[in-house]
Amino acid sequence: MSDHQSTPHKTLTSVADLVDAGLAHGDHEVLEKVAEEFRVAITPELRQIIDPGPAPDPIRAQFVPSPEELETHDWETGDPIGDEVHEAVKGVTHRYPDRVLLKPTHTCRVYCRFCFRREKVGDVREQLSDNELGNALDYIRSHQQIWEVILSGGDPLVLADRRLAKLMAELEAIDHVKVIRFHTRLPIADPDRITAGLLSALAVKKAVYVVVHCNHARELTPSVRAAIARLVDGGIPVLSQTVLLKGVNDTAADLRDLMRALVENRVKPYYLHHPDLARGTGHFRVSIRRGLELVRALRGFVSGLCQPTYVLDIPGGFGKVPLTPQSLRETGTGAYDVQDFRGETHAYLDPLDIRERPASISGATSETPET
Ligand code: SF4
Repeated sequence: MSDHQSTPHKTLTSVADLVDAGLAHGDHEVLEKVAEEFRVAITPELRQIIDPGPAPDPIRAQFVPSPEELETHDWETGDPIGDEVHEAVKGVTHRYPDRVLLKPTHTCRVYCRFCFRREKVGDVREQLSDNELGNALDYIRSHQQIWEVILSGGDPLVLADRRLAKLMAELEAIDHVKVIRFHTRLPIADPDRITAGLLSALAVKKAVYVVVHCNHARELTPSVRAAIARLVDGGIPVLSQTVLLKGVNDTAADLRDLMRALVENRVKPYYLHHPDLARGTGHFRVSIRRGLELVRALRGFVSGLCQPTYVLDIPGGFGKVPLTPQSLRETGTGAYDVQDFRGETHAYLDPLDIRERPASISGATSETPET
């Protein structure tokens, strides 16, 4: 019996664990360097569905570290969507007027190799202390325009039930907060964690939504489907977000199968994210041109229920913009003008699609349009 078979219930957190599980592909010393830079965690649930290789596997690509993560480019950054620019107090990002991101923890049950917060996740110094959480809640309390609180991180559902219930009670007591939204990977990474206790912690007299991060139909195992059913049957509407990733879901068939599987499980596809310019994620990148082709391939051929909104987070913290042929103005090969929600125009240079690349690419520059 191999070690892989003898330790199936262990979360893999090191290169040694990956070696034991038969999942360490490439030079182990290089993989150690990758693991030093970007944390590793693969839960038993995900391990079960990883094809150990050597043929490419969309699940393995998302979670098992690869030497390509050490290849960085000057257009990549540690904060690709500009969380820090809009950090109001520690743990609160206030980018849009009527909603905030509240990040009580930076821990996740699994660490995705393409994560746009990969520089922060897993860092215990980023975890909010009780005092810091108190300050974050004070900020939300004192800003009447905050209608929605989006709990993100890290993965907010890794918090213990008691801590989560306390946080929900605090948010419930803030009159102007009407909606509480969770962004989570937990139903996929650790479906058994969707327990009656967790559901009871989430049960408040406000609208609560769960947005589950899912990138491939194979992630929807029978236990994941059952976990989602517990959420939906518990009265929580569930939506999804997907990151468009090369080698994971960059074909029309992959996206069709994923979106259909989500809808069949009562999950409404919400966002399809264009991959962010996070450090060491170039091997996952897909061009905007390809993304638009894929979205076009879904339209009409697949039910309207299965259509997520394809979005780009404008580098620098300018927020999301839906990517459609109408919302983009191509100013050169691979160069686009995109407009943020305030009507300001930003140049976006697609690193994959620029034939004549300028000397330095910063991702985006901004200018206010003439009125
Ligand atoms: S679960 Fe979400 S926050 Fe955590 S590593 Fe994956 S993408 Fe990043």
